[in-house]
Amino acid sequence: MRSTPTGSRTRCNVTPLVDSHCHLNFDPLNAGLEDVFRRARDNGVGHMLCVSVTLETYPEIRAITHAHPNVFASVGVHPNEREGREPDVDELVQLACDERVVAIGETGLDYYRSQGDMTWQQERFRRHIRAAKASGRPLIIHTREAAADTLRIMREEGAGDIGGVMHCFTESQDVAHQALEQNFYISFSGIVTFRNAEALREVAKQVPVERLLVETDAPYLAPVPFRGKTNEPAYVKYVAECLAALRTTSLEDIAAHTTRNFFTLFRRAASLV
Ligand SMILES: [Zn+2]
Ligand SMILES: [Zn+2]
Repeated sequence: MRSTPTGSRTRCNVTPLVDSHCHLNFDPLNAGLEDVFRRARDNGVGHMLCVSVTLETYPEIRAITHAHPNVFASVGVHPNEREGREPDVDELVQLACDERVVAIGETGLDYYRSQGDMTWQQERFRRHIRAAKASGRPLIIHTREAAADTLRIMREEGAGDIGGVMHCFTESQDVAHQALEQNFYISFSGIVTFRNAEALREVAKQVPVERLLVETDAPYLAPVPFRGKTNEPAYVKYVAECLAALRTTSLEDIAAHTTRNFFTLFRRAASLV
């Protein structure tokens, strides 16, 4: 086929989607990555961001992103990970120098899966914010049953100076508003398609379109009609379709905005395509 100036677009001339958060190195996705990428392409997904949860498994992500130009990396340690090595600011900044690393995370607070004295989690979160500011890579923030502390620490550390995304957003309109005020984007996952997620769908209608992102968090949280199955980047299409229906616009419009937003937020990724 003849290449045209719109060569990065699919043959239907629709802007490709970006899955802004997935875990391609996790079972069972890692066992069939070429098929995962083919199905992503067939469903109009052009790029994906493979998100780090431990320093020990980060090299797996590095390898994937260096072998596949359509996949970007983040580096960081998930708030619920207790076994692995604790990251310090210098090490995160050093790792973020890799050309495929476009973000720091996922980091944040999760008081649902971890309980007790949460000082260790808060200190880890603060180090990630400092590393993001020092490296110029925006943050991927995970928050669960910890919204007030998450927003407070973001404010105290000046997270808005570097910005980032509140990933897999499940919080209230008020929390969304406070995150938007701090220069953050809001990313919706398959949860927004779940039958009992009426309140979240109301939030998803309100987020300004220039701050909206879509993600799968694959292999978890497959959207309807695949709820309960293994999730994969191809299914980000169903998240985008849900947002399009909620906001009475087209899939093309959601794809165009969320993809532009992704490359605006993760400036580093824009320089790699
Ligand atoms: Zn998360
Ligand atoms: Zn995740």
